[in-house]
Amino acid sequence: SASLFSAIEMAPRDPILGITEAFNADQNPAKINLGVGVYYDDNGKVPLLACVQKAEAILIEQAAPRTYLPIEGLAAYDKAVQELVFGADSAVIQERRAVTVQAIGGTGALKIGADFLQRFAPGAQVYISDPSWENHRALFESAGFVVNNYAYYDAVTHGVDFAGMLADLKAMPRGSIVLLHACCHNPTGADLSGAQWDEVIAAVGAGGLVPFLDMAYQGFGAGIAEDGAVVRRFAASGGPLLISNSFSKSFSLYGERVGALSVVAASAEEAGRLLSQLKRVVRTNYSNPPVHGGKVVATVLTTPELRQLWEEELAGMRVRIKEMRDAFVKKLQEKAPAHDFAFVRDQIGMFSYSGLSKAQVEQLRAESIYAVDTGRICVAALNSRNIDIVIDAIAKVL
Ligand code: PLP
Repeated sequence: SASLFSAIEMAPRDPILGITEAFNADQNPAKINLGVGVYYDDNGKVPLLACVQKAEAILIEQAAPRTYLPIEGLAAYDKAVQELVFGADSAVIQERRAVTVQAIGGTGALKIGADFLQRFAPGAQVYISDPSWENHRALFESAGFVVNNYAYYDAVTHGVDFAGMLADLKAMPRGSIVLLHACCHNPTGADLSGAQWDEVIAAVGAGGLVPFLDMAYQGFGAGIAEDGAVVRRFAASGGPLLISNSFSKSFSLYGERVGALSVVAASAEEAGRLLSQLKRVVRTNYSNPPVHGGKVVATVLTTPELRQLWEEELAGMRVRIKEMRDAFVKKLQEKAPAHDFAFVRDQIGMFSYSGLSKAQVEQLRAESIYAVDTGRICVAALNSRNIDIVIDAIAKVL
């Protein structure tokens, strides 16, 4: 006889986890995984930042009891996040128009935002870039939205199809929610210029759209303030505005699940009402966030020596990725001069849409080099020891 569970089908596999499984099963000791979404150091290891270790030493010394945090998270954390995301001198902070809730990573921040929007704008259309981080669509659909694409990537120029993007923004129904990558676009590595952002901000304002900025890589592009500039520009153009941010990458704290959702309101009074509703979303999902990661990040951001150390360590990760981009382009120029990969140097953040086809990615897999079928490679998985192997293999499949 049929039980409740007997008819339930297997859910579709996560495409990136599939690569990891194939990689793990590969017996070749020289195998290389470029399909990952994390930063590796030059030794191929996920770093534990010194600023994090020092903050953890302070926290162990304090031996604080593990009480519940408030629903919106640690106050010192939320404040530090606001100053990082909006800039310490921001008008929205001074005017108390921004509210921030600690979240379970950037994903949790997106989900709180999506559930909040579903409550108050249930009929709104959601638009994400084509392509986007693979969880954006599923996440907003699971919150009850219809999710559409807007034009973004141009495979011919390896850059942004800006005319297409702008046309799509202008055609969106008023009240639509538009998800934008604040910096270091995942998966393409193609970002907008400052002048293009100005046009996007104008189109969003004129069209009565609700911008939701996802900032998972602040500090991985041009710098902390530079990467956050778009948030400041949107905030200055007035609300409504939502921002999810993550410290998974910038603090190498993936498994601690540290992120936040910030919402910009028209007034302090409106902000108070929004916060009360955000707390309701959190309360009915997981009650309140975990303590450790938030305390680590708050300690680093508010302790001047640790803050300085973090900025240096983050710059180190950013610079190493740029060096790998440079090396990738230079070495391919030598090995495959008929092919132009200079665009890889112009891409920003951890990823590159390398332009490799699905068939070429499959050929690389036969050499124990793993990339995503779309040709996305994680530049942060390249290092001084594996880059020549990768370049030789790519040159062979071109
Ligand atoms: N948004 C984007 C664009 C991402 O690339 C990621 C992680 O890969 C996230 C959000 C989620 O970040 P977290 O791991 O903090 O949930």
